[in-house]
Amino acid sequence: MANDIVLSLAGIDRHYGQGETVLSILKGADFTLRTGETVALVAPSGTGKSTLLHVAGLLEHPDAGEVTLGGVACQELPDEQRTAIRRNSVGFVYQFHHLLPEFSALENVMMPQLIAGLTRKEAAERAKQLLDYMRVGHRADHRPAELSGGEQQRVAIARAVANAPLVLLADEPTGNLDPETASYVFSALEALVRQSGLSAMIATHNHEIARRMDRCVTLIDGKVVEIQA
Ligand code: ADP
Ligand code: MG
Repeated sequence: MANDIVLSLAGIDRHYGQGETVLSILKGADFTLRTGETVALVAPSGTGKSTLLHVAGLLEHPDAGEVTLGGVACQELPDEQRTAIRRNSVGFVYQFHHLLPEFSALENVMMPQLIAGLTRKEAAERAKQLLDYMRVGHRADHRPAELSGGEQQRVAIARAVANAPLVLLADEPTGNLDPETASYVFSALEALVRQSGLSAMIATHNHEIARRMDRCVTLIDGKVVEIQA
């Protein structure tokens, strides 16, 4: 495998249900992501975008196939090792922010760093830098409920990259925002990804966003297919 491939999915099957009601979502899906590359995943609802991202981010086990992250084949690893790789190598952004409501924006961005073993001082410094970069530093002491939807997503993005992951996986990160806010949040996300050389896969229904990525893929009959944005 070329060493500039950060994420590869090979022959991924994923089905839900049992017996006569099996729903096959991914059927031998293959996908590779290179260092510093950004890819949009554009496909209709229900085709398996979230499933693909969850499998890629080690949040879900595929029924067949191999996920290789940073050169490590993950499928057969014990759960603790998968969890460790997920924490170190994957940043995930959801459509809804999933910030911890009882903590401030700053503490939410510190949290993954504290789990990774950084001191409070180190974590707070990096959290503040990331919040400033996402232009939400002035809201660092506020809890999620006190922030607008766009601010919440900018904090969630800062949290996702707090441990400098290899790969950022974003599942319709601006899908819940009005078009103007979506554009602003996405620009901040894009700048952060480009500046840090992150690799990113972003599921979106927004074609303007998709066109700004290096590549665009869709899901057809359970497989990943390259398309023009
Ligand atoms: P997308 O993100 O493209 O909208 P999903 O990956 O969320 O698609 O879902 C693909 C299909 O799999 C949908 O039909 C959905 O209902 C089904 N599905 C997803 N998760 C589950 C689950 N845990 N159990 C049963 N069906 C599921
Ligand atoms: Mg989805």
